[in-house]
Amino acid sequence: MGNRLNPAQRQQHLNALANEDFDVVVIGGGVTGAGVALDSASRGLKTAVIEAQDWAAGASGRTSRLVVGGLRYLYLCDFGFVAESIRERGLLVSSIAPHLVKPQPFLWPMRESRAERAKAAAAIGVFDLLTRTVGRGTLPPHRQLSREAALKLAPDLRLEGANGAIEFHDARVDDARLVITLVRTAAEYGACAVSRAEVVRMTRAEDAPVTGVIVRDLETGNELQVRTRGVIIATGVWTQHTQALARADSGLRVLASKGIHLVVPKDRINAQTGIFLRTRESAIGIIPMLDHWIIGSTDSAWHQSLLHPVPTRAEVDKLLHQINPVLARPLAHGEICGCYAGLRPLLQHRFDNDSRTTRISREHGVAQVAPGIVCVAGGKLTTYRLMAVQAVDFLLRRAEAAKHPSVTDRTPLLGAQGIQAMTNQSERIGTIYGWDAGTMQHLLERYGGELPELLEMVDADLTLAAPLQAAPEYLRVEVARACVAEGVLHLEDILAQRLRLNLDYLDRGAGAVDEVVAIAGPLLGWSAQRCTQEKQNYLARVSAERAAEQATTDEMAVTRRRQAADIVTSGLAGV
Ligand SMILES: Cc1cc2nc3c(=O)[nH]c(=O)nc-3n(C[C@H](O)[C@H](O)[C@H](O)COP(=O)(O)OP(=O)(O)OC[C@H]3O[C@@H](n4cnc5c(N)ncnc54)[C@H](O)[C@@H]3O)c2cc1C
Repeated sequence: MGNRLNPAQRQQHLNALANEDFDVVVIGGGVTGAGVALDSASRGLKTAVIEAQDWAAGASGRTSRLVVGGLRYLYLCDFGFVAESIRERGLLVSSIAPHLVKPQPFLWPMRESRAERAKAAAAIGVFDLLTRTVGRGTLPPHRQLSREAALKLAPDLRLEGANGAIEFHDARVDDARLVITLVRTAAEYGACAVSRAEVVRMTRAEDAPVTGVIVRDLETGNELQVRTRGVIIATGVWTQHTQALARADSGLRVLASKGIHLVVPKDRINAQTGIFLRTRESAIGIIPMLDHWIIGSTDSAWHQSLLHPVPTRAEVDKLLHQINPVLARPLAHGEICGCYAGLRPLLQHRFDNDSRTTRISREHGVAQVAPGIVCVAGGKLTTYRLMAVQAVDFLLRRAEAAKHPSVTDRTPLLGAQGIQAMTNQSERIGTIYGWDAGTMQHLLERYGGELPELLEMVDADLTLAAPLQAAPEYLRVEVARACVAEGVLHLEDILAQRLRLNLDYLDRGAGAVDEVVAIAGPLLGWSAQRCTQEKQNYLARVSAERAAEQATTDEMAVTRRRQAADIVTSGLAGV
């Protein structure tokens, strides 16, 4: 099937890149590039998407894992932007990805003055109104809760000095799963999808439209020329670097802003709801995932290499300091089971003021870099689809865009169809395979209507039904599935982006390495030597990450993280 991403498919797609003519080559396989690839392919355009690392290895796999309506933008009276976000959230929850994007209640403790509370009530009222209208009424309206009612929902919340709380809804998602599902869905509609390949040049005569890109296969070092009449750059914080490959001086300007998250075990905070806090500097969420709490995020300027940002000890201390006052049982360092950092691509002022070549909203922008080359950057995970529509429309120009309109608002992602029927089978399937209700929920939220494909794999090898010994949240079959269908090329792709052990587990998945390689090695055709190399490389990465987390400055942390060589080296390391 076209949507199974694996080494054999990758080779086929590399061959197609070398031999066929493309309408659109998308550079970058984060949520923006994956969304653009799906938008373009589902319009019927011959599309390729090229990613230098693993899918979602950039900012898109290091988020707060929320699909947000953007409550905080209501404080800035940016109703248009909030309406856009709420519309996208509604589409994702109701039809595009209802298996991956789940409604999530939050409590917002009210400690503010009477005037601030009135402001909050007005903001949340507009939020509800937009949810009911443009958001398809997919999420329940807010509720005002007394202190006692709030404490019933979140006994571990400290509410002294608060006179109650507001309960409102947003949605949660495994960010990296959303990205890989977008890429697979794009492949289903004919897109060529190649990870661990870097676009190193673009070909065009001066002032003439682009004719192609040069792609370096980072697994082999081979370079190939891809013929295309259009390029869309979706490389997040690497935007300027990629634009420079076009030898043009227009485009977008993006700055990197670092955000970190802490992960704590689910049983550590007694609450049935997420918690939302507005601090003086930003907003912090205590966000429930199925087995963990994620706490974050922070926001600070980043001046180091763009590859592999890591949280520092100082940032972890600061975040603990911010959230502990609202927790009845303050969190200690030793209770944190994971942490990670990401770099937000923040859109800056544009290079030129020509409205024909640039379209900028509060958060994202689309610009022509050179004839046939468009750049899209900024924004949020939540609004990836909208950014993709605008980028492809912009590339095609009005007449051609009208002939090939976007259909992504009506195109469910893989796994979205049949989710209700599959949910109705949950108890029966659980009984057959020996999985409890929690495991079934985990599987349905990750695979949705595609679950039967995993069941077939288990039927063929019953050992795959068991949980991973060192990470029982995940089943062995999920490792196998990642190898045959989800575009894994290296051990770190499994442990960081498909299963989230690198981010969410205290040992960063080190304890699961042997078992995971024993499953993955044969499926990926690895020799004994390759298995050893993959393990050694991953364990070195974990040591370097742990050392970096003890550093007190970004500079020191980056130096320590660099002690571990990348399993595949790309040009991004030098940026
Ligand atoms: C801490 C944090 C929390 C966040 N939380 C949320 C949230 O909860 N909800 C939300 O909606 N948004 C959130 N965001 C924002 C969101 O993560 C980003 O807006 C979004 O992920 C950006 O995606 P992107 O695809 O543009 O960039 P990226 O995900 O960084 O992808 C760019 C990709 O381009 C690749 N690349 C670069 N150069 C090349 C090249 N030459 N050839 C091939 N590939 C190349 C890179 O390897 C990279 O994978 C958060 C961001 C951060 C940092």
